[in-house]
Amino acid sequence: MKDKLLKFMSGRYGLDQLYRFLLLTSVVCILLSAILREYALLSSLFSYAALALLIWAMYRVMSRKVEKRYLENLHYLERIGSIRQHFRMNKEKFHQRKDYKFFVCPTCKTNLRVPKGKGKVNITCSKCGNRFQGKT
Ligand SMILES: [Zn+2]
Repeated sequence: MKDKLLKFMSGRYGLDQLYRFLLLTSVVCILLSAILREYALLSSLFSYAALALLIWAMYRVMSRKVEKRYLENLHYLERIGSIRQHFRMNKEKFHQRKDYKFFVCPTCKTNLRVPKGKGKVNITCSKCGNRFQGKT
């Protein structure tokens, strides 16, 4: 049995992070479909979405176009990486909120940190050198 499975899966793409995301999202869709079963249209919409996600996930697992699937996963990881970075930054800001005030450079949109309690200050962007005023 195990040999048959190994033989069947050889040359195929297999599991990756995008597969896990698709599977998890389809589970969420199934749960939403169950919760919203009083609303027939929404409920069936979520169950079709779950089915579509599962089919997509299985298609990717079985695919023999390994390079294409690999690039899809890489693209997914890049996107999720910037979203994670955004949340990490906000978490960091939240923890430092008592000691620092945060500004965004109006020119290059860089996040800048200034110690609190200094009053009105001139802020120089460390990335582009732009100067602007801020109150801490
Ligand atoms: Zn700047």
